[in-house]
Formats: sequence, C-alpha cells, structure tokens
Amino acid sequence: MANAESKLSLVAPPGATPHANSEATPSCWSCGEMRAHHFCGSCGKVQPPSPVDYFAFFGFPRKLDLDTSALEKEFYALSRKLHPDVFGQAADKERSWSLEQSSRLNDAYRTLKDPIKRTEYLLKLEGVELEEQSKQATEQARASGDLKKQVVPPDLLEEVFELNMHLEELRTQKKLGEDDPALLEEIGKAKLSLEEKHDALLNELKAEWEKWDQLADGATNSASDSNRRKILDKMVDVLNRRNYVWNLVRDVNEAIE
Ligand SMILES: [Zn+2]
Repeated sequence: MANAESKLSLVAPPGATPHANSEATPSCWSCGEMRAHHFCGSCGKVQPPSPVDYFAFFGFPRKLDLDTSALEKEFYALSRKLHPDVFGQAADKERSWSLEQSSRLNDAYRTLKDPIKRTEYLLKLEGVELEEQSKQATEQARASGDLKKQVVPPDLLEEVFELNMHLEELRTQKKLGEDDPALLEEIGKAKLSLEEKHDALLNELKAEWEKWDQLADGATNSASDSNRRKILDKMVDVLNRRNYVWNLVRDVNEAIE
C-alpha cells in the first residue's frame, strides 16, 4: 500500500504525510521505542500530536469504504484512554498532549464517520479543493446574485425550475395566510423524487469509492495517474450534484415547515 502511495502521490497539502503510517513514525519521547500516533505501543505513554492525516491517526489505510464499526470502537477506546481523569496526576506536558490528542480524535472521528465528509476530506488530502457548499456560502451566493455556485445539473433543470416556482407560490400563500393542499402535495412529490435522486447519487459515489480503494490496494495496475485523476474528478462531480440536491431538499423542508 505504501508502495502505491509513493508512486501515485499528487500534491500533498501541509500536514499530510504520505508515509506517516510506516517508516516516518518518530520514536517515543519516554522510552525511545516506536510509537503509535497517540500512545506508545511499548510503554503506553501519551505522545505529542504528530501531523498525520485522520486516516493515519486511526491507523487506517487511505480508503473510503471504511469499516465504521471498527472506527467507532477505536474512537471509544481512545476516548477512554485520553480522558482528562486519566491524566489528573500526570506531568503538565502529558496532560496538555492528551487534551490536544483528544480534540484531534474528535475531529478525526467526526470527519471519517460521515460518508460525505470522509470523501471530501480524502479529496482535500489528494490536493482537490471543493467548492464551498455550506448553507452560508449558498446564501451568500444568492444574496450577491452570484449564480456560479447554483449551477443546476442539466438532468434536473426542468424539475428545479418547476419546484422553485411552486416554492415561490407557497411562500406567497403563507404570507397571505392561505392554504393550498394541492400545491403542498405537488411539492411533497417533488421532494420525494429529489430524495430518490439523492440516494442514487450516494450509490454512484460508493461505486467510485470501490474503484479508489482498489487503486489504493494496488489491485488495479497502478499504471496511470490519469486513472487516479479520473476517479477523483468523478467523485467531485458526484459530490457537487449530491450537494445541489441536498440543498434543494433543505429548501423544500424550510418552505413547508
Ligand atoms: Zn514509549
């Protein structure tokens, strides 16, 4: 695996150490043996945080079809070991390392357990920056009339056009205190259809995970950077469409509240 990584590595952002999993691990400050990224495997002492990515933090390969129950188990085990009570009597430096490790643990867990965040994080590690898709960014784009972030996926054009009209109508009716069950039913149907699309996009994303993981395993002949690039690009495309649909569902939920 380290092999495939070194051959294919793209631009790594600061903080990402491609080989952090293996040979680059520094030795324990206390006993000098090889250590893991949080606790020494030999003497068990907590270690100062090292700049490894979240996958390496948990000792996982950089793969997407992650065993979330193993992740959860590891998270709880480390949480217990890093608990402030454990370090009540410890030296200051150990106590402060345990706090830093603990906050890193929480960030890593939150990121990796969520399939979308995990994919976005991997893309970032691979040097791909995603468009800001947060609610705030969407609202800012709307307020400034910047339509760039609102590009409608072509296969949704008609549906989105109609839905936006219905939502506008609903907002107007609400202001007037009117009630139109037929309109609500229309919107409900559109929402259902969007949710189905969302599920389909998640499946599309998972198909790309599989390709990526095979590449990471070295199962696919490493030959091409272009193959790697193609998978990353496809994931970006699917994520953008998925986020678009997700934002729409959120809009609908807000409108029918
Ligand atoms: Zn040690």
